[in-house]
Amino acid sequence: MTGTGSRSSIVVLIMLLCGLLSSIVNAAPPTLQVNHDFKKLEQFQMGYFVDPSGNMPISQVQNQHFEASSNSITLGSNAKTTWAKIVLQNTGDSPITLYLHNPYAYYNHAIELNEVVNGQVTRKRLLDMDNKDTYKWMYQGTAVFDITLPRQQVKTLYLKNVSYIYQVFSVELYSQDLSKRVLINQYNDITLIVGMVLALIIYNFFLFLSSRLKEHLFYACYLVSGGFWIALSYGLFASFFDVFGSITLKWNIALGTMPICLLIFMINIFETRTKYPTEHKALLTTIAILATNSIYGLFDIISALEYASSLAFIVMSISLCVTISMFLRRHPLALLFLIGHGFFVTFSVLAVLFYQGRIGFNYINSHGVGIGILLESLVLSLIIANRIRTLEKLEATQAELQLLASTDPLTQLLNRRSFDLEASALLNQDKQIRFPLSLAILDIDFFKNINDTYGHSLGDQVIVRVADVLRAQCRLQDIVARYGGEEFVILMPNTTREKAHVLAERIRTTLAHTSVQVDQNQLVNFTLSVGISEVDAKTADLQAAINQADKALYKAKNSGRNQSQLHIS
Ligand code: GH3
Ligand code: MG
Ligand code: MG
Repeated sequence: MTGTGSRSSIVVLIMLLCGLLSSIVNAAPPTLQVNHDFKKLEQFQMGYFVDPSGNMPISQVQNQHFEASSNSITLGSNAKTTWAKIVLQNTGDSPITLYLHNPYAYYNHAIELNEVVNGQVTRKRLLDMDNKDTYKWMYQGTAVFDITLPRQQVKTLYLKNVSYIYQVFSVELYSQDLSKRVLINQYNDITLIVGMVLALIIYNFFLFLSSRLKEHLFYACYLVSGGFWIALSYGLFASFFDVFGSITLKWNIALGTMPICLLIFMINIFETRTKYPTEHKALLTTIAILATNSIYGLFDIISALEYASSLAFIVMSISLCVTISMFLRRHPLALLFLIGHGFFVTFSVLAVLFYQGRIGFNYINSHGVGIGILLESLVLSLIIANRIRTLEKLEATQAELQLLASTDPLTQLLNRRSFDLEASALLNQDKQIRFPLSLAILDIDFFKNINDTYGHSLGDQVIVRVADVLRAQCRLQDIVARYGGEEFVILMPNTTREKAHVLAERIRTTLAHTSVQVDQNQLVNFTLSVGISEVDAKTADLQAAINQADKALYKAKNSGRNQSQLHIS
């Protein structure tokens, strides 16, 4: 008896253990108890089951083992048809209606909800993203199903999610009020990100229009692709335009064009073509691989996107290596690029791991690419600013050098070289407009004596004084230059030699009444002589006019100085 009793108790124990084991193996998700006070369930336990065949009927699905999980799961690309199981019980005494949200619905192929009571399907709804008739359960990209539970009822929900590529699954439960509120606010953050990217796009496009620097264009194109992809993959287009399903899938091609634009941007800002041939080859090869995958994507986007996550690792590794190489070679923009690109790589790696189902669900992982693009684009805009500053400095230096090369340092008038350039440019313009054209050469009288008597420095002051008077007396269109030591030249468009003579006399008499102070007690007066000629309208020969003016000047000197002489041909 004792032996039989102990044997039977062992059998009972084994049966109990088996029961316990089977209940663990077939672990149904815990029953979620709700009543009329229900507000929301954003984190709870459910079960999931991956149907490899993709077409298992609900009667069989009910008998499958459901893996215990949280209500948000990411399962990679090998779980295209996944079922979630949620058990609800209305513990109250009045019927309630709650709302089941599937916020990633827009990203899927189809969603099917079966309500099961006592093993029987009591209601079934199928949402096919390629069939507009079934859109009545879609609200701005989120699938929303109302579920009614009579008092004390236990209801099991079997929710089938058919993805295109990556299985990202999330279920939330809300009361009617909260459901509305959540739907209104769900895209605030993505709208903000896309708005910022859009502002950067417009800004860079204008920069390109004004500077014509190609890097602004490539950076803007990178932002366009990035912003577009964020809007697409985080549901903004679905929310605003009600576009779901396979139509939107093709647009994921932006995921390929975005890194292509970024790599071209790198080629441009680091000037790899001319300066770093090895890095240049690495970047070009990566662009070629990406372009091949993008073109392939035009024909078979699903396969192209399946390669995309592995490709992303290659792109990020190469672009990071090139940036580090630039940094080691002390390229001035490398550090900023490394920081910006580091953000992108870090968050994109999280996103790729998330989509592949290797790391769990959280806000940062599930929005990794968007956050990465935004942070990178903000840092890269600093590179743009840096480049603009460098170019401005360069332009300013060039302008300064040009000014130094073209002007005489003592008087700030044009020097002889730039007079010759400007004069021939003037002569090449429409003759009808410029002629008659007169030329005057002015030479200070007995300047050697001034130098010898009062010193070189006072001589300089006399030269500066002459320059000031010339500047004040001549018109804007006249070309005035210091032609030699104490010799000046004026080329006067639209001026007959008689008018030029009037001007020369005015300058001469003004200067004859001018003096330069030697010290408190002594002033020095000086005079100058002027030779005037007119440029021949037929030959427009400047050198001939200069020679003629020189002759007239010689005449003025020989006729007693302090006078203007016209050359008479
Ligand atoms: P003339 O009336 O015939 O013109 O007599 P001049 O003494 O002015 O003769 P000339 O034109 O030959 O003299 C030019 C002098 O100008 C010679 C040179 O030392 C002086 N000179 C040339 N450049 C400068 C300069 O930059 N500063 C000063 N102080 N003197 C200069
Ligand atoms: Mg002279
Ligand atoms: Mg002289």
